Amino acid sequence: MLSAVPKPVLKDLAQYLEKQGLPHRIKKFKPCSGGCINNGGELLTGEESFFLKWNSATRYPAMFATEGKGLKKLHNTGAINLPEFIYDGEAGEYAYILMEFIQPGARKPNYWELFGQQLAALHGNSSEQFGLDHDNYIGSLPQYNNPHSDWPAFFIIERLERQLRMAFDDRALDRAIQRQFDVLFPRLEGYFPVEQPALIHGDLWGGNLITNTVGNPCLIDPAVYYGHREAELAFTRLFGGFDREFYQVYQATFPLESGFDERCDLYNLYPLLVHVNLFGGGYALQVKGILKRFV
Ligand code: ADP
Repeated sequence: MLSAVPKPVLKDLAQYLEKQGLPHRIKKFKPCSGGCINNGGELLTGEESFFLKWNSATRYPAMFATEGKGLKKLHNTGAINLPEFIYDGEAGEYAYILMEFIQPGARKPNYWELFGQQLAALHGNSSEQFGLDHDNYIGSLPQYNNPHSDWPAFFIIERLERQLRMAFDDRALDRAIQRQFDVLFPRLEGYFPVEQPALIHGDLWGGNLITNTVGNPCLIDPAVYYGHREAELAFTRLFGGFDREFYQVYQATFPLESGFDERCDLYNLYPLLVHVNLFGGGYALQVKGILKRFV
């Protein structure tokens, strides 16, 4: 299925691999199945195997450059496994990213315990401000990371208001909902415990956690920023959640302040608004349900 990869991408990649002194005769491409925003799959050269993703360069400017930066940033902490970023490039109308291919394996018996410890270790990486030194993407939508020194301001200005504006412009949400957010915003400070900014994966749902060949947890497809670590944990619960052991071990390693269960949905207003903007439909009802509880 090498024909599935656009020719300019193949040519560019072969040149890159040759320049690096790597085996550059690309022999095979196995597309990944389902759930992809981008086109992606395993690229085989005979000796080596890589993971390749590509998309339109103009539709999603710098998407893969920022994914590469995110992978490197998380990788550099040494806290948790992620594919090693190799290269990102543009060829013709396409942009692409090349990274280590994670050979899938079966979960180790202590997989969830390890993941709890490793995510807690990742969240132990801090910064002076919430945000990041560059913007990136959440799914296929822009994610703005202008720095703020307090979490409620960051969450309101860079997360909720950005998505709300998009939803109103696209008529995915009725403008009347703004009034409820206006009531909610000044109250948020009273809900969120004050914490140091924590380095988070940013898009941590089950689809972005895979298992490597030795059975360890491995994160993919990050939307990195320094945020409130509770936002990350809330996100993990949005679509079913992980094994109970993961939450127990995380809590034992890096305890959360009490009351997380009650405020969890407030953090999930962000990913839910992202889903309203990406998919519409029922997600707006979930947003309204949360507002009803808190406003
Ligand atoms: P998208 O950016 O389109 O959301 P993902 O990065 O989530 O794509 O990848 C889509 C699927 O491809 C994942 O669910 C996973 O199964 C697989 N995948 C992604 N990255 C790798 C990798 N480095 N090694 C092996 N498989 C991967």
